[in-house]
This record gives sequence, C-alpha cells and structure tokens, in this order.
Amino acid sequence: MSTALCDVVVVGAGAAGLAAGRALIEAGLDIRIVEARTRAGGRAFTDSVVGQPFDAGAAYIHFADRNPWVALAAEFGVTLEKHRGWGGGVAFRDGRRLDAGATAARRAGMAQFWDAMETAREEQPASGASLGDLTAGLSEGARDAALRFGQHAIGEEPERIDLADLIAQWEGPDLVAPGGYGHLVAAAARDLPVSYGVQVTRIDWSGKTVLVETTQGALRARHVVVTVPVGVLRAGGIAFAPALPAATRDALSGMTMGVLSKVALAFDGARFGWPAPSDAYALGTGFNFELFPFGRDLVIATLGGDVARDLMGQGDEAAIAATLDVFASIVGGEARQRFVAGRTAAWMRDPFAEGGYSVVRPGHGGARAALREPVGGRVRFAGEATAEGGSMTVGGATLEGRRAAAEIVEALA
Ligand SMILES: Cc1cc2nc3c(=O)[nH]c(=O)nc-3n(C[C@H](O)[C@H](O)[C@H](O)COP(=O)(O)OP(=O)(O)OC[C@H]3O[C@@H](n4cnc5c(N)ncnc54)[C@H](O)[C@@H]3O)c2cc1C
Repeated sequence: MSTALCDVVVVGAGAAGLAAGRALIEAGLDIRIVEARTRAGGRAFTDSVVGQPFDAGAAYIHFADRNPWVALAAEFGVTLEKHRGWGGGVAFRDGRRLDAGATAARRAGMAQFWDAMETAREEQPASGASLGDLTAGLSEGARDAALRFGQHAIGEEPERIDLADLIAQWEGPDLVAPGGYGHLVAAAARDLPVSYGVQVTRIDWSGKTVLVETTQGALRARHVVVTVPVGVLRAGGIAFAPALPAATRDALSGMTMGVLSKVALAFDGARFGWPAPSDAYALGTGFNFELFPFGRDLVIATLGGDVARDLMGQGDEAAIAATLDVFASIVGGEARQRFVAGRTAAWMRDPFAEGGYSVVRPGHGGARAALREPVGGRVRFAGEATAEGGSMTVGGATLEGRRAAAEIVEALA
C-alpha cells in the first residue's frame, strides 16, 4: 500500500462501497477501495452448494420502482424477473398442514397485523414503541404474524425493533435476478481499483488528511467513506483516533444487528410431490422454506431472531442437521435419503458482517440520520444502516454510497 495522498479511500466493496467508488471515479477523483474479503459484494453474495447457486445474503430487489439495481442490471445485461412473493406458501404446525379452521385463524391474525401496521403509518407511533408493542393487545394470530415478520423480514425479535423506523421503510414490488443478486452486485466491481484481502484496522482522522491503517500498510486520503456494517463498527473492528464523536457513538449504540440467516439444502432431484418453486412455513419452529427456486434442486431455509442465534451458534453441521429435521417433518423422511449436501449462511459468525443487517432499537429513531453526519468533515459512514427508508437493503446501501460520494465531490470542488 502506498501512503501517497489520494482523494478518497473507500472502506468495503459491498453495494455502498462500489457505488461510492464508481461515482467518485466518474467525478474524476483518485480513489482506492479496500476490501477485507477476497471478493466484492459484501452481504450480497451468491454462494453455491454442489454447484447450485443460491443467494446467501440479499436475494430480492426490493422497491423496484426506485431501486438503482434495476437500471444497473439493464446496464450489465442481466435479466430480472418478477418475484412471485411468499404469499402463496403452505403452513404447517408440528409437521401437519394447517386445517381449514387454523388457516382461517392464521389469515385473520395476519390481516389484523397488517391493518395495525397501516394504522401506525397513518398515525405515527409513540416514540420508543416497538414492533412487539404494536400487537401487544391484539389476537394471538396478530402477535404471531408480528413475530414471524420480525424474525424473517428483519432478523430480530419484535420487542427489539423500533416501530417508527420499521414503518418508514420503502415499499414496492420485488424483482429477482435468477443468476443471483450477489453476482449482479459483484459485477459492479469490474474496473474499480479494489484491493482485496486487505482489512482496515485503524482510521486516524486527527490531521488535515486521514491515515487509513490496514493489514497491508497504510493509505493517506483527503476523505474516507466507511461502508463496513454497523456490527463491525460496534465490535470495534476498526479503531478510530481520535475516538468517534459522542453523537456517532450514540448512533451506533442505537442500532444492533439482526441475525437473518439461511441454510441451503441440496437434494438429488427429488421434489417430494411439491411444485417447483413453492414456499412452506413450519410454524412454531422459526423456519420458512423456499423449495426449488428457479427449478434448482435446492431448498433454502430462512430463520432469524433468537432461533437463529441459537441454531447458528451451534455450528454448521448442527444447523444443517436441524434444518433437515424440520424440513423432513414437512415433506417426510424421504428428505433424509435424498439429501446431498447443505450449506449455511451464518452472517452473525462472519467477522466482516457481525450479523444480518442493522436494526434500530426502540426509542433510537434518529440513529440512522445521526450516523450519516460527517465526522471532522472528512470521515463519512454509508451503507444500508444509514439509508433510512432504504435501510437493510442493497438498493438503499447503493444510494447511500452515491450520497457520500456526492458530498465529497462537493467538498473538494
Ligand atoms: C440473509 C440476508 C438476506 C438479505 N436479503 C436481502 C434482500 O432480499 N434484499 C435486499 O435488498 N437486501 C437484503 N439483505 C441486506 C443486504 O444484503 C445489505 O443491506 C447490503 O448488502 C448491505 O450493503 P453495504 O454495502 O451496506 O454493506 P456490506 O455489503 O456488508 O459491505 C461492507 C463491506 O465491508 C467489508 N469490510 C468489513 N470490515 C472490513 C474491514 N475492517 N476492512 C475492510 N473491509 C471490511 C465487508 O467484507 C463488506 O464487503 C439481506 C442480508 C442478509 C444477511
């Protein structure tokens, strides 16, 4: 690494870092992108199990009507498809498909939950209210719907999710990239000056320029864009000298990381009598299953919150075995005979993620905006955590990377 002064160092080559890098280069600036992993894309990552691809992190191109990845996919020649949604899934409890009465009760609970969300949007919740508070006085079905939404959409338990932040999230149609959202995002790294396998350890912003220390020497820049996940910052993965201002530290302590996780199970072509693709919910276990996406011989389980913390904490082998058990309780014991291999996406055990994505703690509604405030005029944080309505998504992270770049271009003009 050369300590010759450059305009900007971007820390991280995920969606935000790549977007910032590209915008800064288009503005004619001299930049370096430093990435700890040996690949680009961060939490947008298309992994594979026995040669079959699956998105271990982001899979859905949310709020497609304003998501920059729709235009980027067109630019990269990547075809997108409409996501058919999870609404048509089949629900099970204790290995049995819900009967008509239980299905009707479940649907009524879900409707009550969505009505309560709509009312919260119209009326604005009290400061400090959590997703759990929203359904506290409602039916068991509504509370269950909130629990499942918290665990599967946010990766966290409802009482730990700030309601005002949640209802500020953008909505809109979802698209999917059959070849993988991770591959699509990684394609944006082409032609960018990314140094892979280089971990930033310390950022010294005490001088007029910033010294970025890495596992392979130091870099000096006029400005720095830090796009590492909130989990990495909270864990002290990067030291700051001087320490970050109190407002930034408060912002970080107002957020935690959810633990949305996935387990991919590969089978030998067996479909167990299910159409491809299908969705199934194993109520009471914390598992949702996506069966044979894009016609592949894969079943993708998702889980979040404390169930995921517990299971993923037990290690890959145990997590795969437990997932196969729950899946077999739905489709039958044949699943065990036809199982080929499994793979986990345990982001909470990943030192460069430290979790799934950022969750605002109840009562800390200003945390995302506060983290967006530049530090010393030369250190900027950008990524899904700073994205307000687009937070927790690739699209939001990308827009944030562009926002940080635009601020720097203006500052250097
Ligand atoms: C299981 C799961 C499912 C998801 N599903 C969706 C979905 O369907 N749709 C959607 O839009 N979003 C989804 N997301 C969220 C989405 O993946 C993230 O919001 C987005 O990828 C974040 O981008 P980012 O650039 O902010 O952070 P990241 O992608 O995490 O990029 C940060 C980069 O910094 C690097 N880094 C970390 N520490 C250091 C260091 N010390 N030095 C140098 N580099 C470092 C990391 O390796 C990483 O590459 C999902 C996430 C998970 C975990």
